[in-house]
Amino acid sequence: MTPPPNPPPPTRERYRLCCPECGARTADDGLRLTCPAEHGPALLSAEYTSARFATPGRTGLFRYADWLPVVREVPDSPAPVALPAPALGAEIGLTDLWLVFNGYWPERGADLPSCTFKDLEAGAVLGRLPDRPPVLVVASAGNTAAAFAAGCARHDIRCLIVMPDFALPRLAGDGPLPSGVRLVTVDGGDYDDAIALATAVTEGGVGQFEGGIRNVARRDGLGTCLLTAFEATGRLPEVYVQAVGSGAGAVAAHEAALRLRAHGHTTDPLPRMLLGQNAALAPLHDLWRGERRPRDPGVEVLAPELTNGAPPYLPRGGVRDLLRSAGGGLCVADAAATRAAQRLFEWVEGIDIEPAAAVALAGLADAVAAGSVRPDERVLLNVTGGGRQRRAADRPAADPPRPRVRVPAGDVRDPHARQLAAKQVGELLD
Ligand SMILES: [Zn+2]
Repeated sequence: MTPPPNPPPPTRERYRLCCPECGARTADDGLRLTCPAEHGPALLSAEYTSARFATPGRTGLFRYADWLPVVREVPDSPAPVALPAPALGAEIGLTDLWLVFNGYWPERGADLPSCTFKDLEAGAVLGRLPDRPPVLVVASAGNTAAAFAAGCARHDIRCLIVMPDFALPRLAGDGPLPSGVRLVTVDGGDYDDAIALATAVTEGGVGQFEGGIRNVARRDGLGTCLLTAFEATGRLPEVYVQAVGSGAGAVAAHEAALRLRAHGHTTDPLPRMLLGQNAALAPLHDLWRGERRPRDPGVEVLAPELTNGAPPYLPRGGVRDLLRSAGGGLCVADAAATRAAQRLFEWVEGIDIEPAAAVALAGLADAVAAGSVRPDERVLLNVTGGGRQRRAADRPAADPPRPRVRVPAGDVRDPHARQLAAKQVGELLD
């Protein structure tokens, strides 16, 4: 049988960017992060002309290219896998639990380079860029760095990655980075410090900030998790469960569900959200509860990627709007519950998961026990961060790459020193 011909490259005419605040619809240039009109912050979303969301005969992320804001397809971009999980469901009191698994699990066909759904974001963001793009500036707590480093290296796209030094082991992979991928660490810092330094670099006129949740490609890349599960089950879940830092994956799942309904694929109700964070440091949870906790710089959590201190709660289309539209809310898990959930998952399913994914599982188990999720509800648990230990056993990794510049966290936290550090980093890119 001859393989189907390659589809033509996707074009920008297939979609427009829509502003949820003023309703403006604009053409995309591959970089735009905000509405051109003057109003409060709002997350643009993409509106696709095609009713079809999956291309028959194709595999990987770009199977969903009809609903991705891309103009190039990045070969070898893997997709998540959706799986029924009856045994795990029985352990926590659910009869219809599904997983969408983002990680490494060879028996199930999962092999994402960063072992997380960040590879879905990176594949879509890189596919969205215009020809001859500016240097992409990415701030990361680790997994995004790994995904963008791998993607930019494969596709010869220049990027600057800013991350806390504790996360360097996440980049331990295939050896040294190519010269186009520049790495800067904030030593002794956290994710917020990485964001502050990356922001200062771009405000100095160097590079293009990748944009995080404001980048429509990131969200629609993540939205393929819900599309994958919808293809496998033919239904929308009644409850969508995920651990969140910014909430981009949850907003993306909601947007994908809205599109499936708008294009007539289903009349199922929109899934309500159950979003998890670390009990000791839970910025989104606290915003949702209307609580203010002083940030304790010494607090340690098992899943630091869930600690974004300035999450997009209030912007139009952000997490507050998501919870108002979808229902549900935030939950938290402490370290003991998180570790117990990790052990349970590995014992039942036979693959390791990271603390972030376990935070979501622990929160789901609590919600079932408390009756806020009914035993017979159709639940989709997004597991992101899976199989890292298995992969390390299967494929020994090289040492992590050495950063070009190391900036002490104290310098990032001092406005004057931060400007000087940003200038030094910016000179790296000339
Ligand atoms: Zn607008």
